[in-house]
Amino acid sequence: MKKVRVFISIFVCKIIRGLAKLLGRGSSLPGKYALKICPDILSQLKLPEISIAVTGSNGKTSTVEMIAHVLRSSGLKVAYNKEGSNQIEGVVTFLIGDATMGGKVKSDVILLEADERYSRRIFEFFHPKYFVINNLYRDQMTRNGHPEFIKSVISEAVYDDMTLILNADDPLAASFGKDREGTIWFGADKLPTDKTVHEGIYNDGKYCPVCKAPMEYEYYHYNHIGKFKCTKCGFARHDTDHTLTAAEDNGDRASITIDGKYEIPVFFTGIYHCYNILAAFTAAVAAGVEPGKAAEALGGYILKSGRISDFSLGKLDGRLLLSKHENSVSYDRSIDVVVSDKRKKSVMIIVDAISRKYYTSDSSWLWDINFEKLCGADIEKIVLAGQYCDDLAVRFELAGIDSSKVEIFEQVTDAAEYCKHNLDSFLYVITCFSDKEKILSIVTRRELA
Ligand SMILES: [Zn+2]
Repeated sequence: MKKVRVFISIFVCKIIRGLAKLLGRGSSLPGKYALKICPDILSQLKLPEISIAVTGSNGKTSTVEMIAHVLRSSGLKVAYNKEGSNQIEGVVTFLIGDATMGGKVKSDVILLEADERYSRRIFEFFHPKYFVINNLYRDQMTRNGHPEFIKSVISEAVYDDMTLILNADDPLAASFGKDREGTIWFGADKLPTDKTVHEGIYNDGKYCPVCKAPMEYEYYHYNHIGKFKCTKCGFARHDTDHTLTAAEDNGDRASITIDGKYEIPVFFTGIYHCYNILAAFTAAVAAGVEPGKAAEALGGYILKSGRISDFSLGKLDGRLLLSKHENSVSYDRSIDVVVSDKRKKSVMIIVDAISRKYYTSDSSWLWDINFEKLCGADIEKIVLAGQYCDDLAVRFELAGIDSSKVEIFEQVTDAAEYCKHNLDSFLYVITCFSDKEKILSIVTRRELA
């Protein structure tokens, strides 16, 4: 009877998936029906020996895409869930899509981008061999609450038979590996851009995630990411198996070095981007790829992708720095890029649709972003655009930015017109996936040089 149920579940899922494809629609609906017919369908599928799940507040999609690229470059057949299908229904849809009618998944490796909150539901039925936890930040607070809550939710998805691959520099992510044998650690060495004093509006690394006593940092790479040590219980940054040993950008050429010998060319050395590369490298090596080959594949891939776009707008040159709304750490990183550019520049910030996946008008996260840092930068104009331009304007007023430097436009097209006719300096645009096309559809994109 069970076998029949499994068969029907797979059959129905494949039929609906086929129909949806014919209609040009991808959705997690097929998985929803499969789960209705057989609620434990995930545990009935025969999975390949290697499966890797990636979670974290930032960089899941980039990291999964990089791992997929490296594994494919070494000849493995990889199946992974595309962005937006990282909840259980989506996972069922993509796994059955890759399975035979008998429930055998055909690929050599299963890669999963796992939603922080839904991992516990997915892993009830099958445990990935490797579970990468890259970082835990304040992110989408209307649905995720705060990072400690997410940490407690993820802890329900961690099982003894998994090998954890953890960011040693993030105390929240690293706490999953406390007293746990066999964990694989990645992290960054001390870098020239590190700070000895915490920077930012809030500090999620102030107290130990294990015992709540105050923590001390030898240095911070950014926000609460760095070399930490609890003053009471001994919880401290773990030694790493794979390490970012250098990140260099001399203008013409940027590269990072892993483990002192694997150099990977990159477009820019934003530390945040470096962690995704390092996480992908570590996961690929754990899955059996030779480190030199992994670095080579990553270099080739990163040269072609990159989540920054250069453009022209009239006579202006500009660069879009993709960030995430509702995620202050990602904005802080973009602001670091602007501040580290010593030229005179202008900055456009667009907040028009806060999320593309659900409706929220919560703009409290704007108050967590360190916009104050722009005060010291050589700025021609700050252009605030989109439906939430007035929220931004209040935030900038309280950040102490000279109001004569600030221009406000509800329409992104008006903001772009203003820049085109009134500015002379390099233009940085900071916005989210949900709003990026509103500017990219107006400007002329250029290949990254
Ligand atoms: Zn402690």
